[in-house]
Amino acid sequence: MNKEELLKIWQRFADNNDFILNPDKNHVDLAAKGVLENEKKCGLKLCPCRLRDGTRERDLELICPCNFKSQDIWREKGRCWCGLFVKK
Ligand code: SF4
Repeated sequence: MNKEELLKIWQRFADNNDFILNPDKNHVDLAAKGVLENEKKCGLKLCPCRLRDGTRERDLELICPCNFKSQDIWREKGRCWCGLFVKK
């Protein structure tokens, strides 16, 4: 998958929810680069800003997009951990 395809998927995901992609395009580009590097390295589109602990179970929690809306960071700061998705 290339960056443009990934950005389209993220945009569609945001369009179907009550949040948006971060309007800072550089921020989104950096996140996309990180996710695609992780995909190359380990075959999964893992979050670019959180650390793996090497277990499959944890890796599955880190696939982007993750379940950020159930986390404190969403309620407190209105964004996912990496700031890729933000509240409208
Ligand atoms: S924190 Fe944001 S960038 Fe990281 S996996 Fe979750 S949705 Fe993706």
